[in-house]
Amino acid sequence: MGRHIVVPPQSGRAFRVEKDELIRIIDPRGQQVADLWAFVTGDPLDWLSTSNTRDIIERLFPAVGEHFYGTTGEPLLTLVANNSPGPHDMLFPACNAALYRRAGFDEHPSCQDNLHKALAAEGIAIPFTPDPVDFFQNSLPTADGTLLVDASINPPGGSVTLRAERDLLIVVTACSVDHHPTNGDACTEIEVELTPAT
Ligand SMILES: [Zn+2]
Repeated sequence: MGRHIVVPPQSGRAFRVEKDELIRIIDPRGQQVADLWAFVTGDPLDWLSTSNTRDIIERLFPAVGEHFYGTTGEPLLTLVANNSPGPHDMLFPACNAALYRRAGFDEHPSCQDNLHKALAAEGIAIPFTPDPVDFFQNSLPTADGTLLVDASINPPGGSVTLRAERDLLIVVTACSVDHHPTNGDACTEIEVELTPAT
């Protein structure tokens, strides 16, 4: 039996997956960015590294069949299906309290806070925030290097599917940005379907 997880708007959820389990990230209403982190929770701790992934695959984002890598170059996840027009992002940090303060919001949920809350529920505290994989985020660099985030073009039901390459702790957040077109007109939920290896 598979598992089904709803990540409510402007929140995050942590869940463990086993090697070869499939993780489908679904944007039911469209235009909602989903941030994803993956951790190997043994000793030493390892995590999905967007910079190492870009270096190894020599692209801004994995193509279907390519991997997301940890800090030591070990494949942690494989992108097995991309049922979204994209684009996806692997350049931006998670939205965070300082970003919202710069925009004039003193108290605002953020993907960074939601990550650490989800990790705390698993008994894990880390003194830093790895950069996330931002599925459905429309922020491709322009030819002159400009980096701007536009409204997501992901349609309702757009999804991506990943395969775990080892046992992992995954955190998914439904991005909290609501003062900017990043997530369309409103922040909405993200759904996750987990299918065990057959
Ligand atoms: Zn966010």
